[in-house]
Parts: sequence; structure tokens; C-alpha cells
Amino acid sequence: MTHHATRTLQELGYRLTPQRTMVWEVLRRTRGAHLSAEDVCAQVQADFPHVNLSTVYRTLELLVGLKLVRETCLGSDRRYYEVEEEVPHHHVVCGLCGKVEHLSDDSLQTTRHLLNHVLGFEMREATFFGVCRTCLSAVNEGEEEHHAHP
Ligand SMILES: [Zn+2]
Ligand SMILES: [Zn+2]
Repeated sequence: MTHHATRTLQELGYRLTPQRTMVWEVLRRTRGAHLSAEDVCAQVQADFPHVNLSTVYRTLELLVGLKLVRETCLGSDRRYYEVEEEVPHHHVVCGLCGKVEHLSDDSLQTTRHLLNHVLGFEMREATFFGVCRTCLSAVNEGEEEHHAHP
């Protein structure tokens, strides 16, 4: 079965070079991960050693433009790519280890209504920055040790 992305690209008359297909394949097989352009490039280069980063950037741009891939800014210089899902979702980013987790759209309904009610603002995407469970417990353990041996 042809994936809808392959079809869309063909319908729009883009040449489906193997490199372009590979960028898409990498994102599909790493679904749920959040890859930077460099990560994608490294994986494509495993099969096509001559592909360079600018080709990967151009292909990502194209896929983002076609709404097949979602680009999310997760920090000042961190741009991540993933296959666009049907269901909208948001991100939670750990500032210590960089781990990214998903947050369902439903869980933000209260915030959405509040923003809309107070500011007339339509929230489309949210990213929360903080500290993940693993890092928090590591920090807490560190503090306990500190108290035990002053
Ligand atoms: Zn963390
Ligand atoms: Zn995501």
C-alpha cells in the first residue's frame, strides 16, 4: 500500500528522489521520537552516504509545507521533526536531560478555555519546559545525600 505522503508528493509533481523518500522513511520509523535535522541526516547517510545536511533541510521544509511533517521548536536552538499526527498534541521538555514527552490535547482543555476566555486567544500548540520525573528524583536524591553528610 502506498503511504499518503508518497501519493501527495507525486500528485504535487515533486520528484521522488531516493533521498527524499529516505527522509520521510526515517521519520516514519522513528515515530514518537523527536529528531533534529542532524539526527535525520545521520540516519539517511547510513544508506546514502552522499546526502548532505542542506538536502535534508530542504526535504524537511518541503514535508513541513505539505503538512506531512511537523516542526516543533523545543528550546532556543532546538528544532525537532516528527510525522504529523491526526490528533493534535503538545510537548513537555526536560531542561536537564532534554527528554521530550507528549501531552494530549484533551489534557489542556482548561488552559485552552482560559486563554480563550481571558485573552480571546486561540491556543494551537503548547510546549512546557521543566524538569522530568527522572531528573527530579536524581536531584532529590542528591539533596538527601547532602543532608545526610553535611
Ligand atoms: Zn530530565
Ligand atoms: Zn511530538
